[in-house]
Amino acid sequence: MKKIMTGNEAIARGAWEAGLHVAAAYPGTPSTEILENISTYPEIYCEWAPNEKVAVEVGAGAAFAGARAMSAMKHVGLNVAADPFFTLAYTGISGGYVINVADDPGMFSSQNEQDSRFYASHAKVPMLEPSDSQEAHDFIKKAFEISEKFDAPVLFRVSTRVCHSKSLVETGERTEIAVKPYSKNTPKYVMSPANAKQRKIVLEQRLKDLQAFSETTELNRTENNGSKIGVITSGISYQHAQEVFGGTVDYLKLGFTFPLPPELMLNFAAAHDEIYVIEENEPYLEGFAKQLGIDCVGREKLPFVGELTPEIIRRAFVPASEETGGYAVEAKAPPRPPVLCPGCTHRGFFYEIAKYKEKIITTADIGCYTLGSVPPLGVNDSVLCMGASISGGIGFRKALDKAGDSRKVFAVIGDSTFFHSGITGLIDAVVNKADIVVNILDNRITAMTGHQENPGTGRTLMGEPTHQVDLEALCLACGIKKENLRVIDPYNLKETAEAVKAGYEAKEPFVIITKRPCALIKEVMKERAKMKCAVDREKCVGCKLCLKAGCPALMVEDGKAKIDTAMCNGCEICAQICPKKAISREDL
Ligand code: SF4
Ligand code: SF4
Repeated sequence: MKKIMTGNEAIARGAWEAGLHVAAAYPGTPSTEILENISTYPEIYCEWAPNEKVAVEVGAGAAFAGARAMSAMKHVGLNVAADPFFTLAYTGISGGYVINVADDPGMFSSQNEQDSRFYASHAKVPMLEPSDSQEAHDFIKKAFEISEKFDAPVLFRVSTRVCHSKSLVETGERTEIAVKPYSKNTPKYVMSPANAKQRKIVLEQRLKDLQAFSETTELNRTENNGSKIGVITSGISYQHAQEVFGGTVDYLKLGFTFPLPPELMLNFAAAHDEIYVIEENEPYLEGFAKQLGIDCVGREKLPFVGELTPEIIRRAFVPASEETGGYAVEAKAPPRPPVLCPGCTHRGFFYEIAKYKEKIITTADIGCYTLGSVPPLGVNDSVLCMGASISGGIGFRKALDKAGDSRKVFAVIGDSTFFHSGITGLIDAVVNKADIVVNILDNRITAMTGHQENPGTGRTLMGEPTHQVDLEALCLACGIKKENLRVIDPYNLKETAEAVKAGYEAKEPFVIITKRPCALIKEVMKERAKMKCAVDREKCVGCKLCLKAGCPALMVEDGKAKIDTAMCNGCEICAQICPKKAISREDL
């Protein structure tokens, strides 16, 4: 049966058809929907793990035990999971194991633009790269076969356009694969130095076998159109190249991109006068081609930064072309800087710490609270990676102390990010006596990636009620003293201001937990649908102080404040700010 599917849906469907048993992931754009779709197949156990390392280890354990397993993450998640990933190449697996990694060229939703293909070559793990939804579906099934044939985890590398673009997919039915019986195998799975040395030999031999496979697998194919120009490409870049060149060039379309096939590439190059290498991110294929001595053109014509598009490829390789092609839209959308949503539960907190702007350093984290950097709030000093707000804040504290700088450090992190990798930072702050203020903005959901469950939400990915990890108890267990902990409602500015003041004045590690569910949670939206605030124009003096909350529902009209009723959720932050009491709740 044919269905229109995104790449992420197709991966989930293909994995289900391949008899997948266990899947684990941490959400991250553009990979999040892989597990969300997996969760619709009741035959598969699936979970949101607290972070990507845990997800890969859950998959590893399942694969050791003989099940077909899968994990998924965005590119930066593979950095977190790199530890088990590298050693898995040594141990191998028993049941097939596929690790999905989704790159984000152009950084639509990421803090960097790294190219995960180098992880495959670095860890010596076989890698597949689909270029559309049909290939995502078909290749994932192949990936399980390759994993089991070569006793290796397989890296399944996709990118934003493959994950989120929709195309027709011919689907199949599920093949039930029995979980292989587990038998203890200490030399294979216990990576003590003596065993690891032996497994490294196995790994190197496997690499040779995989290279031979790469030369002959149908995942790597040539398309001959009788041209003297040959294009070497992989992933979404193949689709872009097809759009630009169509049948005017020949293609070496690589779907099995580690180990690469030297003979195939050399023969392809020898049969053509000119070779173009078209790929996104880093010159991974091109570097290998050049190592083989292939005279090719690629990166010198293509940008190092951002996503590749057919238009960019056309301009680079067919500059004289009259045709612009692509899907250029005449109308330009007005620029809309990212801001915290109307009714955001983080707004009150940022509004209050912004009052200390000159006296504090704010280390922020990955999540909606990155937007605390945007004026008029404009408080964040740094955002590095998941969990770095607390540990980075400790570094700031120690360096500021050396410099005799008494500015207080406020580390800002979300609930999901705290569970992901903030806890260790908090332990470090307590043990190493860094008197920073850790602010856990607990909105009861993993918000920025689209509302996934986390250890604090009390539900699993499979929809079951479960234990809700108590943030307050966790902080106390990490060594935060009861008198140095505040749990507040961030919609209450007075309470928030008092907690911020107490944190600012504290001489020991201090924690503020702001507790209120994200304004965009379905139930919250329903509950607050009729809650609105309005401005009394008689009372308003046009001082614009309320605008300091940075709420997009607030504007100025004819010199007075005005609220867009459609956007407002009646959080009353602006009402608490207005010195003239000109704003009040006027529910519909
Ligand atoms: S703070 Fe109050 S008085 Fe000032 S502009 Fe806003 S609504 Fe008007
Ligand atoms: S009450 Fe004020 S701050 Fe809250 S959503 Fe409405 S306009 Fe924005």
